[in-house]
Amino acid sequence: MFWQLDEDQQILVNAVRDYARGELIEKDGEWDKTETPLTDELPRLAELGLMNLRIAEEYGGLACSMVVYSHIIHELAYASPSVAVTLSIHNMVGEVLQQFGTEATRREILPHWGRADSLGTFAISEADAGSDPGSSRTRAVREGDEYVLDGAKMWISNGINGRWFMTLARTGEGKKGLSFFWVDGNDPGVERFPIHGKTGLRGSDTIALHLTGVRVPVHRRLGEEGQGLAIALTALNGGRIGIASQSSGIIAACLDEMVSYSKERRQFGRPISDFQAIQFMISDTAVELQAARALTLEAARIRDAGGDFQDAAAKAKLYASESANRSGYRAVQVHGASGFVNECRVERLARDARVTTIYEGTSEIQRIVIARGLREAPATA
Ligand SMILES: Cc1cc2nc3c(=O)[nH]c(=O)nc-3n(C[C@H](O)[C@H](O)[C@H](O)COP(=O)(O)OP(=O)(O)OC[C@H]3O[C@@H](n4cnc5c(N)ncnc54)[C@H](O)[C@@H]3O)c2cc1C
Repeated sequence: MFWQLDEDQQILVNAVRDYARGELIEKDGEWDKTETPLTDELPRLAELGLMNLRIAEEYGGLACSMVVYSHIIHELAYASPSVAVTLSIHNMVGEVLQQFGTEATRREILPHWGRADSLGTFAISEADAGSDPGSSRTRAVREGDEYVLDGAKMWISNGINGRWFMTLARTGEGKKGLSFFWVDGNDPGVERFPIHGKTGLRGSDTIALHLTGVRVPVHRRLGEEGQGLAIALTALNGGRIGIASQSSGIIAACLDEMVSYSKERRQFGRPISDFQAIQFMISDTAVELQAARALTLEAARIRDAGGDFQDAAAKAKLYASESANRSGYRAVQVHGASGFVNECRVERLARDARVTTIYEGTSEIQRIVIARGLREAPATA
């Protein structure tokens, strides 16, 4: 298979799996119950090199291929979907900085990217600009060697712990009037308002970000003025492989929980695994897991080969996230009433899965991306 790992890569993925299954499952349950962000885990993630996965070696990163990266996010999500999304976003924006940042910004930020206090965020959504980031209203006005940013971003993951906010702001009119800036979270005028009461992913912090007269040096603009939406799409295409990998990790965890519970739980004098209805739910999840992994790793392979992976990433994200939701539902069903209380891991997994079809492009947006591609180049041509 094209996605086969070599020996060193397998050792790395196995080490992440051991760490995740050994240390994160229990902590994830606590973060969920107490609605506490995973702040205390960040130093450990940094120590393990997990905050530097896609950064080039010249900046101290691990320079992982996308295929290896996908395996790692999958393993982390199996134990903690919150850790997986935290690192998926952090690694995604680090990579974008590496690709589009000025030399001055790269030298300033990237050598510290692997540290717990350098967490990155991706700040495009606003209260009135979700699926349509082209309608963003946050403004960036040039004053000499600086831009002055004013506005409010919404739903920003990693926002409480984040240092660097990759922020989309308006520098002109229309869809070509948007640009990205690296906002330092320590700068005057940056305010963070935690969002509480999320259905799931409670270890991953989410904020509303307010910017009032925040001054950003010109060299911290990402790319040219007006390139904002194009850079956002580049970032999101890569990010979708991350979320597809997060989703497949959730599917795998649901599957293992279903198999093990169905062998222990007895009704009518037999383990429920004897019942065909239960077997069907397990079989469907097993097939979907393999399909989700195949689509995701194929998107990662195309990316590693330097190909156009937009369509593959959209398909992987659409399928894997929808399947994570189906798998969460089935896992609760197999557990009966036990699956309905928060002591039970599948109850949490089902809630964590919910957002995967929403962020980094909803399922409807993925379908639009796929359909547009087909209109331009039919799959059967
Ligand atoms: C936990 C969490 C973390 C997040 N993290 C981040 C983050 O780190 N950074 C960030 O910038 N954003 C983040 N988001 C925001 C997320 O990306 C948006 O929620 C998402 O883009 C959808 O936008 P919306 O919620 O405004 O929904 P809307 O865009 O208002 O969509 C509502 C519904 O309409 C549908 N719809 C919209 N347009 C179309 C269309 N053209 N055709 C068909 N259907 C359509 C949608 O699919 C959806 O079903 C996060 C959200 C959550 C919940």
